Formats: sequence, C-alpha cells, structure tokens
Amino acid sequence: MTAPVVRFAPSPTGRIHIGNARTALFNWLFAKKHGGRFVLRFDDTDLERSRREYADGIETDLNWLGVEPDMIVRQSERFALYDDAMERLRAQGRIYACYETQEELDRKRKRLAARGLPPVYDRAGLNLTQDERDQLEASGRKPHWRFQLERTIVEWDDLSRGPSRIDCASLSDPVMAREDGTYLYTLPSVVDDVALGVTHIIRGEDHVTNTAVQLQLFAALAPDAAPPTFAHHNLLASASGEGLSKRTGSLSLASLRDAGMEAMAVASIAVLTGSSDSVQPFASLDELAAVVDISHVSHHAARFDEAELAMLSARTLHLLPFEAVRERLAAFEIVGHNAEAFWLAVRPNLTKLSDAQDWRRVVEGEITPVIEDEEMLRAAAALLPEEPWDAGTWRAWTDAVKAQTGRKGKALFHPLRLALTGLDKGPELAALLPLIGRVRALARLPAAG
Ligand code: GLU
Repeated sequence: MTAPVVRFAPSPTGRIHIGNARTALFNWLFAKKHGGRFVLRFDDTDLERSRREYADGIETDLNWLGVEPDMIVRQSERFALYDDAMERLRAQGRIYACYETQEELDRKRKRLAARGLPPVYDRAGLNLTQDERDQLEASGRKPHWRFQLERTIVEWDDLSRGPSRIDCASLSDPVMAREDGTYLYTLPSVVDDVALGVTHIIRGEDHVTNTAVQLQLFAALAPDAAPPTFAHHNLLASASGEGLSKRTGSLSLASLRDAGMEAMAVASIAVLTGSSDSVQPFASLDELAAVVDISHVSHHAARFDEAELAMLSARTLHLLPFEAVRERLAAFEIVGHNAEAFWLAVRPNLTKLSDAQDWRRVVEGEITPVIEDEEMLRAAAALLPEEPWDAGTWRAWTDAVKAQTGRKGKALFHPLRLALTGLDKGPELAALLPLIGRVRALARLPAAG
C-alpha cells in the first residue's frame, strides 16, 4: 500500500468522548501501522456552534491519548475552496435552488409517512420556473441549495462492513448550502478529502448513508481520481445502551483523565470493545496498532463499561515502564536516582498513578509503625545489615532473623511489614527495603535488644 492519508474530523462543538476517541484512534493506528499521515480536520463550518476553545480542547485530548496530528486544518479558513467547488457543481447543472421552509419540509415528510412512503424530497425546487423563483424571492424567500443525485446504486467495498450498496433513489438530494450561504457538512468534507489527498475515510457507521452521496460528489468534483476507501466502524454505546454525546460531556476524555484513567487503557478499550480482539492492557500505541484491525469490528453495538475501564487502567499501569511515567511522577516530586526502582517496586500495587504518592510517604515519610511481636522485632533491629543494600538484602536479613528467633512464614514477615510500613499489605519488601534505607528502617523498629 502506498502511504495512506487519513483524517479525523470532529466538529468543535464540545469536548470529545470515548466514542470519538474510537474513531480518532482507528485512523491514527491505521496511519501508524502503514506509515501514513494523520490529518486533524476541524469541521467548524457552523460558526455559531463551533468554538475555538473546544478545538483546542480536542487537540489536548488527542495529545493525551498519544495522537499527534501531522497536520491541522480548519474548515472555517477554507470557504474559498468550497465556493469554487460549488461553482463547478453549478456549472455541471447539479445544484438547484429550493425555497421550502423547515415547516413546509416537515409537512411534506408527514404526508409521505401517512402514505407509508419514505421521506424523500420531491425535487419541487428543480421544477420551479424562473418566474416562480423570481416571485418567491420577491416575497422575501431566500433559497437553500441542493445537489441533484444521480438515481443510481452506489457501491463500495467497506473495509469494515464488506461490500456495501445504497440505492440513491431512496435518498433526498442533500442540501449543500443554507439560506445564509453557509455550508453544511457534506460538501466541505468531500472538497477537503480531495484537496488533502485523503486515501482512507475511517468513521462511525452513522455516516454510511453519507458515503453514497459523497461518492457521487467525489465523482463530480474529482472524476479522474480514485475515490477514497471507506471503513465504517460500529459506534460505542454506554453500558446501558445509550449513545454518547459530545454535548452532555458524558464519558469525555477530559473527565476520564481527571478521574485518573490511564490514556493507554482508554485507548485500548476505545478500539477493542465490540471487536473480535479481546480487551487487554497495552503499554504503547505501537503495541496496540499491531493488534487493531478495522475489519475485526463487529456489526453490533459496542457497549462500553466504565467499571471495566477502571480495572483495565490499573492493569495498564502495572505494565508501564518507568520512561512512560517519568514526567508524571516528577510532577509528584518523585524524582532522583531511586525513582525508577521506586516505580518498579510500587507499580503492581497501584490502582491509579496518584496512589504512588501514598507509597512514597510509606517509603520516605513519617509512618506509624505497628508493633506486633516486639521481641522478634528487637532481634531484627540488631541483625539489620550495614548498607549498601540491594534486592538481596531482605532475604539475607530475614534468613538471619529466622535463624535467631525461630519465627518463619507469616509470623516472621507480617510483624516486619507492619513495623516497616505501618500497613499489613503492600509492595514486595525485598524491593521496598533498599528504598526505605537503614536509617529509617532502624527508626521504625523497636530499639535493638
Ligand atoms: N464532522 C463529522 C462528524 O464529526 C465528520 C464525519 C466524517 O468523518 O466524514 O461526524
């Protein structure tokens, strides 16, 4: 395959949720796997609802996931291209003016429904004479503009859904531009896909019908080029089966991040839910890219379970190498030459990364030792080896304590853990002891006796 170009095209009318992340990641992972490019395209032609702060927030959310666009375009800066395309379609006789109000269109749809017919626009605008149009305009009506579909069957080989076909006779001619001259989503999307050389359009299955329309637009605007390949994935729904919405902020990436979920866990669950590959933790997007395949998504709704995410997030943390968390640990002031050893020691005991701060207090801070079997602990204090300490120190020390006191198993280890950490559970003491160090360990044990 020649290097693909993909795009993720959110409208910046809110922050993105995990369902949007699914689309973004399918694109990003596809580009990664095939050495391609990823374009972030803001579909912000709706100037009233789109906001720059949402676009900036979406960039932040994508970066958090590890998605770094090769290019960012904003449709609000590209109106000249859309005007030009509109002119070309007009010249081909594919654009016509319509004057119905929203209520008139609703009434038409209701009449068709009453007769059991599909709500397909009757092309009344196409049949208006110049006189009728002049009269409508003289009465103050302004036209909106539709694209005249060819009433053919459009077919494509969907990378996710397989061979697909839509009879365009069952579709209304789509509106390209509103009364005020602003564009709806359909035309700018195709114009940009052509202009940016997009080779693969990977998006949610709510766009399947658009594909038939857009393929006709590709044929009209770029007749000599092969149209992009399409893949439509199933949509994520909440555990209770509801759709996700940008507007309500439910399951937004920002809220998942604030709740302490690991980005790699969010990424894995976003793309593996509702596919034939099992949801499992991955330490990097490269590893995830090797597994994810758009053709593995199922044709059923993909239910996303927040409780599963929390568990996956913990399991993901347990895999992450120090490098992957170095900066975030530094933000907790967990730095210095022991930071990596500390990370490897505490990692298996974390549910969230922020829990590392609790373990840091256990290692370096003031704790209240719990003294159980004081006699044994006094002996242990006396036997504490001199530094330097390493991963073998714990074993050598506890062997010596065992030999001298006759304690073994739980009777040996439990009191030592309670004294050294103040807790009855935690990371391996073999790893913690060198981090606690001799001075603190001695202070936590009763005086040698
Ligand atoms: N702005 C559209 C959306 O968010 C993009 C659809 C597409 O990928 O073509 O649904």
